[in-house]
Amino acid sequence: MSVQPSVPEVQNDSIEDRLYTVKYDDPGDSHLGVKVPSVCTDSCETTDCVPICPADVWHRADTDSVPTIAYENCLECSSCRFACPYDNVSWEYPTTGSGVTYKHG
Ligand code: SF4
Ligand code: SF4
Repeated sequence: MSVQPSVPEVQNDSIEDRLYTVKYDDPGDSHLGVKVPSVCTDSCETTDCVPICPADVWHRADTDSVPTIAYENCLECSSCRFACPYDNVSWEYPTTGSGVTYKHG
């Protein structure tokens, strides 16, 4: 006779609700940026920094503009650094040394 494992009840919060539980120690300055703005405005057609970000940090009005960066929402996953085809993302840990704090570790 097989024993079925019990399935824990999963709370189905939205992505926004889950992100809301992430705490962030705001250093007051962005730890993210673009190295050379003209690379964004003159060369980049793909805007890979925007869709790769799980926290909706990067926004770009059109392919002639430099992205805006809502650094306060950053989860410090580093994806944007590697997604940019021009290696044009400047990325450092927040100066506070802590940045995000996750509820479960
Ligand atoms: S992917 Fe890189 S070059 Fe393109 S807009 Fe984003 S930061 Fe600029
Ligand atoms: S490090 Fe991750 S969460 Fe932060 S801006 Fe880059 S892609 Fe978004």
